[in-house]
Amino acid sequence: MESKEENRIVNTRFAPSPTGLLHIGGARTALFNYLWAKHNGGRFLLRFEDTDQERTSAEFEESILNDLKWLGILPDEDATRQTERTERYREVLEELRRRNAAYACFCPHDESPGAKRPRADKCRFISPHEREARLLSGEPYCVRFASPQSDDAVIFRDTLRGKMPVKGSSVGDFVLARSDGSPTYLFAVVADDHDFGISHVIRGEEHLSNTPKQELIYRALGWEVPEWIHIPMVLDSERHKLSKRSGAISVASYREDGWSPEALVSYMATLSWAGAPVDRISRAAALAEGFDIRDVSLDSPMHDQERMNHFGKMAMRELPAESLLREYDKLFPRSDTRGGHIDSDRAALINELLPSCSCKKDMERSIGEVFLPKYPRETADEAWMRDIRMALSLVTPELWYSENLKNILREFQRERGLKGKILYHCLRMRLTGAEHGVPIALLMGCLGRENVLERFDTADL
Ligand code: GLU
Repeated sequence: MESKEENRIVNTRFAPSPTGLLHIGGARTALFNYLWAKHNGGRFLLRFEDTDQERTSAEFEESILNDLKWLGILPDEDATRQTERTERYREVLEELRRRNAAYACFCPHDESPGAKRPRADKCRFISPHEREARLLSGEPYCVRFASPQSDDAVIFRDTLRGKMPVKGSSVGDFVLARSDGSPTYLFAVVADDHDFGISHVIRGEEHLSNTPKQELIYRALGWEVPEWIHIPMVLDSERHKLSKRSGAISVASYREDGWSPEALVSYMATLSWAGAPVDRISRAAALAEGFDIRDVSLDSPMHDQERMNHFGKMAMRELPAESLLREYDKLFPRSDTRGGHIDSDRAALINELLPSCSCKKDMERSIGEVFLPKYPRETADEAWMRDIRMALSLVTPELWYSENLKNILREFQRERGLKGKILYHCLRMRLTGAEHGVPIALLMGCLGRENVLERFDTADL
């Protein structure tokens, strides 16, 4: 199959409601929209669905935009807002009424989008005369869509699922505009997607139930219907929709923890796209060439922190050692840091810790842990313990670096005929209180002379 959409301009959009922070699930929807548009040389747009004025906020809008930019999922135009298009919605609504596809409903019904339709014969079929009179009298009304009344199927086509038939009469006369004139989400989306030339609506499968309604609006207006593509939801390990509760952390907090945006993007690409590269990290723009929305699997992917860490670690390894050293320098104990070899010891320690770090915060934590003594721990009280302290106390600050310390320990071990395992284990326990950790000479080099000697003494207490 040719992987580009033949003869069709591909424009996509991401349409979040700015009622919260961007999470992995939403960001992955944005990514797939971006990738499919870029794969086909089209435009990727951002629209804030802010009609729910009580829940939306400018701060969330800003943070979603910043997160997308940080991830490299860049919209091709300034973001639009539904609240800025009120006049246009009114126009389209008028057009629907003119085409007898919408009618004023005076019933004091619950106007929420999911609410049950009124009895169809109540307002849909009142005489034009009565309707006119009631409108003129200022009676409040909402506007409903005149849905099919027969059981004939409304069929829409989803690119990933094929034909999706829905019993016509089950759609119901849903609300297009509330009694205060504000458009519902169901309706505004259609007007927006049409006006902005959106050719492919790629969104979460939780919107599947909205699609027959939106398809009917398109048809009633004689507009070209976009391609519908509903991607499976990202689930947590208990197979629930990913949420804050299930540990889905916002993109903003990953950013704060010093994750690489490329690691996040590369990980998100693997959520339902089997073709996503797993052996390297990639920028969003670089993934577009190989992406095909038609390859997206319908199985719901599970958020897999381990896999995400795998990408995070790859990204950490690509950071220049120099910049890491500069960044973490302040976390090293300050005493005894003279001497030309100290820098190389610190760099060696960072290298040692790097394979287990997925983000910069991990590195910060790991360095902190290395220097955190876990006293008191019992250690062997052999005479050699005092002697090695004595030997180490004779090392001048200039010679206090790991290569030299390694030689001193080795020499000491040989002279005393000690088993390496015993010597190093006891030293580690004495100096850190931990059973395992980075090579002991490296630890001592980074810790510095004074700190090491002090730990010998503190542990003796
Ligand atoms: N505003 C909707 C949401 O945040 C998206 C609507 C759509 O993509 O059509 O879930």
